[in-house]
Formats: sequence, C-alpha cells, structure tokens
Amino acid sequence: MYPVRIWAVRHARFFEGVYRIFEPVILKLHPVWNSVGYQRAEKPVRAVEKLSKGFLFDCKMCGQCILSSTGMSCPMNCPKSLRNGPCGGVRANGNCEVKPEMKCVWVQAWDGSQKMKGGDKIHVVQLPVDHSQKGTSSWLRVARKASEQKREEEKVSQPLNK
Ligand code: SF4
Repeated sequence: MYPVRIWAVRHARFFEGVYRIFEPVILKLHPVWNSVGYQRAEKPVRAVEKLSKGFLFDCKMCGQCILSSTGMSCPMNCPKSLRNGPCGGVRANGNCEVKPEMKCVWVQAWDGSQKMKGGDKIHVVQLPVDHSQKGTSSWLRVARKASEQKREEEKVSQPLNK
C-alpha cells in the first residue's frame, strides 16, 4: 500500500494526534489485558494492529513500534532495516538505492517529523531491532511495559509513604 503509506506521512500530524488519544486508552485497558491474560489477548490484538497499521503504514509487525519517532514512516520498509537514519546511498531525487522506485523511508521520516509537534523525537537514537519481538503486538508491549513500570515505581515509593 505504497500510496497510502506516503499519504500517512503527509498527514503525520493527524496520526500523531490519533496516537495521543489512542495510547492512554490502550494503557487504561491494562486490567482487561491482565484478566484475559496478555498471552491470550495477543492473537486478536495483533490481528487488529496488523490490519490497521499494515494498511496505513505498511507495518511489518516488528513489535517495537517507533512510528511516532520517525514521522509516521515505518523504518522496517527500508530494505536495509535501518532504524537510525538513512544509509549513504540515498539518490539525488531522495529515492532508495536498493528500490529506485521508492522514496527513502528516512527522507519520508524527516518530512513527516517536520509536520509533527513531537517531531524532535527523530533525533532519539533507537536501539537495534530485537528480532525476537517480530510478529508480536507493540500495543500490548507498550501497555505491559507501562504497567510494569508503574508497579516498580509503587514499590520504590512504598517505604517513603510509611
Ligand atoms: S516500526 Fe515496527 S510496529 Fe511500527 S509500523 Fe514499523 S514494523 Fe510496524
């Protein structure tokens, strides 16, 4: 869905807003994921994520989404899977050296990030992709991580409250 992907980057500000609303909802649903079991929730949530993000962003389900740091341009569409900027082979017209018919995902990422309020996040150095997460839901991962972090913070603050 290359044209849709390009369109999504052009509307990166809009999708940033959508994610700002969507993320707290996913986090608030933690008790639901917890009672169903994250393992069991994985299959249906992954299916919805794959369908929606696949359509909009050509998502490859890496399981560690960084769209909000890359101007809504999925870095996994880079033939070299670069997560921290373009290689040295970007063509003069801004296209990819491996797929000359395709805009470099990092040229796109820069354009998209310039439209976003939090576009500065493009400067954050990303960790290398963890291939063991491939095919899993990054939404559930975010929810689980946030709840674990909250639990840790509560543990640390407990002695202070006594
Ligand atoms: S960064 Fe990963 S989860 Fe996010 S759209 Fe790309 S492949 Fe999908």
